[in-house]
Amino acid sequence: MAIADNLHFFQQQLAGTGCRLVTVTKTHPVEKLREAYDAGARLFGENRVQEMTAKQPLLPPDVEWHLIGQLQTNKVKYIAPFVHTIQSIDSLKLLLEIEKQAAKHGRVVRGLLQFHIADEETKSGLSLAEAHEILQSEAFRALRHVRLTGVMGVATNTPDQEQLRREFRELRGYFDQIKAQYFADQPEFREISMGMSADYKLAIEEGSTLIRVGSAIFGTRQ
Ligand SMILES: *Cc1c(COP(=O)(O)O)cnc(C)c1O
Repeated sequence: MAIADNLHFFQQQLAGTGCRLVTVTKTHPVEKLREAYDAGARLFGENRVQEMTAKQPLLPPDVEWHLIGQLQTNKVKYIAPFVHTIQSIDSLKLLLEIEKQAAKHGRVVRGLLQFHIADEETKSGLSLAEAHEILQSEAFRALRHVRLTGVMGVATNTPDQEQLRREFRELRGYFDQIKAQYFADQPEFREISMGMSADYKLAIEEGSTLIRVGSAIFGTRQ
């Protein structure tokens, strides 16, 4: 009941905003995912390949699986048959591996470029210069089975609203610049994935199109 109530709360918060909810299901058992599905959740986010591949066959086929955690190239093959969007793309090497594995399944996998926006060394992601380098490469332009649809970032874990706003604006600025320079003619490049349980309201105000929410729906993780 609580899960359904929490989801309905977010569905109401997002109504009319153009922002969608990624329900972050990491660490939670499949029964909880089913409860969320029955309450209308369709975009599910997991941060570990092994956990995602174990859960995916147990949920209905219309779930969109989003990988939101760091991805090693040697694990791409396990999710290539079904993953909808890899939100954590942080290298050309990873893009090339996704291309190779998605091609084997005749699929196009969507991806977001993950940017480093937090002032914490531990949070991964690209700099703007690194992103330009990828996007200007011959290898990137040859990709056919992976399609970039936007950007993603994880803000600093802080209650400082001004800092969070600055970081979300930074990501929004990266999106605008990349969109104008490389994807102006591609309406599919439109996602700005930012905002979690603690900071989703600010993220929506700053233009988020995908909030990634776990604990505010399922309670705290073990
Ligand atoms: C776990 C996780 C979330 C969700 O965090 P909550 O605070 O539980 O909402 C969002 N994004 C990423 C990348 C995560 O790893």
